[in-house]
Amino acid sequence: MHTFIQLFMHHTSDIPLPQTPDDFCRECAGPLGRASATLPAQKYKDTWVDEGIILYKNSGYICPACSAANGNPIRSTIIPTKGRVMWASQNDFFPRCVGVDWKDKSISRQQLYQAEQTLEDFLQSIPDPPFGLVIGSGGGNNKHFMRYVPMCYSTETITAILMGGFEYVTFRVGKLIEALDFYDSQECTTPREKKELIQNIIKNYELWTAEERLLKIMIYSR
Ligand SMILES: [Zn+2]
Repeated sequence: MHTFIQLFMHHTSDIPLPQTPDDFCRECAGPLGRASATLPAQKYKDTWVDEGIILYKNSGYICPACSAANGNPIRSTIIPTKGRVMWASQNDFFPRCVGVDWKDKSISRQQLYQAEQTLEDFLQSIPDPPFGLVIGSGGGNNKHFMRYVPMCYSTETITAILMGGFEYVTFRVGKLIEALDFYDSQECTTPREKKELIQNIIKNYELWTAEERLLKIMIYSR
């Protein structure tokens, strides 16, 4: 199965997906064809210090997607803001930026995000699995995150990566939607009432810690 970075780079920058894979990428662990892969000696400079975060050390090859995404500030610029998402499936992706030249270091966030998609929007129209989902949690950044976005095979229980805190969250889609709908059905005006209502929902719906976190992110990023 293709990795998130392979699908995203394929959609946005026309990087070909491997047709007849005969190995795996050392950086994202996705399938690759050795004939169109890069060797570490061609990619890593003498200053290379990231060997410790290599995902698949048994391979001596780097896939075209990981090579193309190399060394560009876009890798951090594209992290969604708090409560917004970035995702890729086999046939679709967001943000829908196409023709991105990852060698162009001047690309702005606005050029990448013509529109924003909230986590709430995403939960209303989840793509066909498998897909990889990145949820913005505000603050921080990490240029290497695209290699670590997990692929999901379910539309009911999703595991996503929260950026930039580099945390994995697993949540039940139905529970989260129910909890948010209940929140919206209640009247509360002061910050104190809001806080109490959220605490009650967390307790009554028996939300997991990750769900509690996401509910708060959705409410407070509106
Ligand atoms: Zn790769």
